[in-house]
Amino acid sequence: MNLVLMGLPGAGKGTQAEKIVEKYKIPHISTGDMFRAAIKEGTELGLQAKSYMDRGDLVPDEVTIGIVRERLSKDDCQNGFLLDGFPRTVAQAEALETLLQQLNRSIDYVINIEVDKSILMERLTGRRICKECGATYHLVFNPPAQAGICDKCGGELYQRADDNEATVANRLEVNMKQAQPLLDFYAAKGYLRNINGQQHIDQVFADICELLGGLQS
Ligand code: AMP
Repeated sequence: MNLVLMGLPGAGKGTQAEKIVEKYKIPHISTGDMFRAAIKEGTELGLQAKSYMDRGDLVPDEVTIGIVRERLSKDDCQNGFLLDGFPRTVAQAEALETLLQQLNRSIDYVINIEVDKSILMERLTGRRICKECGATYHLVFNPPAQAGICDKCGGELYQRADDNEATVANRLEVNMKQAQPLLDFYAAKGYLRNINGQQHIDQVFADICELLGGLQS
């Protein structure tokens, strides 16, 4: 089950990714999470990524492709993977095709969660994330049982530094500009499957499971 999950920031990628990897037991490979972890650990990769992320810009392709190449070569990706936040550019998508060919594999589906731009800003500024386990919540659409506390691990919830309005607006613009050629690239390859992300979280997940059910034999 080799999957790529796409959608503009705020489309619900993180929430659906958690559900997919739990149900299908495949690793969740989020380049954003990998960069944030590297920044927290103060590694060379973190230093390289931080200035780009703080501006809401993309980290250069050579850096990003390198960390994905390393991650996909690990043993736990043998039975599949869910890529989240990668690829973001056609150059990254082409590099991924080459990399998968070398590993004798190919993408099964590119799942694109579609949500109108007009509601993405509202969604993004309400996003809260657990400091301990990384679980995502939303003040309105997916609130925790107790304000500010993670349901899963009791950790403290915070607003990501790059979820402020100015950075979000820039991040949406960068993503929209980059997304279309990528969607065209994957549509041409026959991998692309659009999912309506404006439904209830459980219904979005049900639609994804219906799609993935066809892969299991
Ligand atoms: P995300 O958590 O996916 O929203 O990513 C947060 C930030 O990490 C982005 O705004 C970029 O600066 C960086 N980033 C994550 N994935 C990529 C990627 N595939 N290519 C370039 N930059 C990325």
